[in-house]
Amino acid sequence: MTYKTDEIWEDKWVNTTCGVCYCGCGAKVRVVNGVPVKIEGIKESTMGGNNAGLCGKGAAGLMYYHDPNRIKKPLLRTNPEKGIGVDPKWKEIEWDEALDIIATKMKKSWKMTPTKFFLPIRP
Ligand code: SF4
Repeated sequence: MTYKTDEIWEDKWVNTTCGVCYCGCGAKVRVVNGVPVKIEGIKESTMGGNNAGLCGKGAAGLMYYHDPNRIKKPLLRTNPEKGIGVDPKWKEIEWDEALDIIATKMKKSWKMTPTKFFLPIRP
């Protein structure tokens, strides 16, 4: 998305967490006209890759958003054959369909082996 600087109608910082790895470091993102343009660590955060800042991966995480090849919808593997060099034949599907598929598989797993079913629950 491109925009001219004289057409700024929104310029704000949004607190969030970095999602590049599982550490979940505190982060804040500058959003201009609905587009994230900068990411920084939150100094006051107790979680931080580098003195409550972001590590290199986290700082570069903004590039995921702007990647022209970013996957924006769920993909369903349609080729049951698996292996090196085998085309998975991904098919783009809607979120409702993806969530139905996941819920159905989770219910099936729960019925088969509830003791092996794991859901992380945060206090
Ligand atoms: S800043 Fe680095 S360590 Fe922290 S969540 Fe992001 S990638 Fe992980």
